[in-house]
Amino acid sequence: MCFEPTSVILSRRQVLAGLASGAALVGTAGCLDTNAASGRDSFTGFQSIQDDIAEGQANHPKILKAFGGVYEHRRLTGYVTRIGGTLAKYTEYQQYPYRFTILNTPIVNALALPGGYIYVTRGLLALASSEAELAGVLSHELAHVTARHGAERRGAQQVAQIGLLLGAIGLRAAGLPSGLMQLGQTAAIAAIKGYSREHELEADTLGIRYMSRAGYHPEAMVSFLRSLRAHSKVEAQLQGLPPGEVDQFNIMATHPRTVERVRQAQGQAAGTGNGAKKWGRWGREKYLTQIDGMMFGDDPKQGLIRGNKFIHPGLRFEFRAPKDFILRNGAKRVTGQHPSGAAMVFDMSAVIRRGPAADYLQFGWAANTQLQDLESLTIDGLEGATAWAEGQNQTGPVRIRALAIRREDGRFYRFMYISPLAKAGRWEAPFRRSGLSFRRLDVRSAARIKAQRLLVVTARPEDTIAGLAKTLPYGRFNDAWFRVLNDLAPGQALTAKQRLKVIAS
Ligand SMILES: [Zn+2]
Repeated sequence: MCFEPTSVILSRRQVLAGLASGAALVGTAGCLDTNAASGRDSFTGFQSIQDDIAEGQANHPKILKAFGGVYEHRRLTGYVTRIGGTLAKYTEYQQYPYRFTILNTPIVNALALPGGYIYVTRGLLALASSEAELAGVLSHELAHVTARHGAERRGAQQVAQIGLLLGAIGLRAAGLPSGLMQLGQTAAIAAIKGYSREHELEADTLGIRYMSRAGYHPEAMVSFLRSLRAHSKVEAQLQGLPPGEVDQFNIMATHPRTVERVRQAQGQAAGTGNGAKKWGRWGREKYLTQIDGMMFGDDPKQGLIRGNKFIHPGLRFEFRAPKDFILRNGAKRVTGQHPSGAAMVFDMSAVIRRGPAADYLQFGWAANTQLQDLESLTIDGLEGATAWAEGQNQTGPVRIRALAIRREDGRFYRFMYISPLAKAGRWEAPFRRSGLSFRRLDVRSAARIKAQRLLVVTARPEDTIAGLAKTLPYGRFNDAWFRVLNDLAPGQALTAKQRLKVIAS
């Protein structure tokens, strides 16, 4: 459930320092501590609780940067903080300055930094359907803090090399749920590293303990894992990945025994005389009331995707990808993929350059590349240049078409279109049309572009899933997404007066 992005956090120097000091730590028995939450002796590599807190403090800004910043929503933040604070009272470690943050990203994730920094994303809040599910997520993250998994893992890293995973990233990142690829490779590395399966299970076990003590129904831990799984399947379809690829790294794969443990916890609760009826509350209505009106999907400030169109109201431009391309909006670039293997990457140059766009393309961006058919052109009144080159990627020989368009400030919008060499002819015209579709937006039309909102409504007899799902931004996957959002299994019908999450444009 949580992909603690440690590798984002550690600088190369810190990692090297860690590895160097590791040599000295091997075989040292003096740094085992009995953890009050897990009850285990854990190797935390001399890291004290104060060190945990300092580490959290230092890395908090990096998490904000990687995940779109703070979602500024006073009521929801207060709500999450209240529930988190209540749960924290049931943990074994009160001395952490627990702090709860909602991250402004549609990615579905939750994470924790050592020292009590707990994060849930806007995407996760949209997916959850009850207060108990949110409490389950927060409890799980609290458990990573209290069981000091971060420090323990750091201890392990000091002993063992961590480089082995790096080679596997490219392919495996594809199977990750919730669009983690948007964050680029470093976060993907962290995501795969995550915590060990043992840590995840321990966090679930402790999480079930905390949420049960606070009066929530422990079954919510399982129901939310189920939602996460359904979500990761739809996401995989959206990204054109085979379902098998997803299952390998999905949330159920890392939490296989949670279901079993929830059953045990319920069994214990029933056995202690609290009785089955006192298993705990779900708080579904209350939760839906809280998330009613929250932002859904991309924040226009970060650019948004509508079908095969990318719109950036902040920077005031838009373009269209070729038909049937699936676009993904990342922190630094927009990527697009076609099921046939064609792909595109859009980004902006960091450097300001004088001189014609053709010079930038030839001597700057594509320096040291054998360019063909260099051509100057004008797009929406802006000067541009395009050329192509042959290259090689994981799939084999490819043709790459590069297009640079000069911004008013001397930087460049850059398009890279990639097709398998054998199909290069077929893609030439669609790529050109896509590049030529680039246009600037005036202030007024940019201002009209608003974020989508999640609204909670009551189903009317005439409502259909297709009808309610059509405002979602996921094209032919709208119905599937709507089902995930509302815990409806494939084929399951709406029931009268059911409370539903819908998306308003
Ligand atoms: Zn976790």
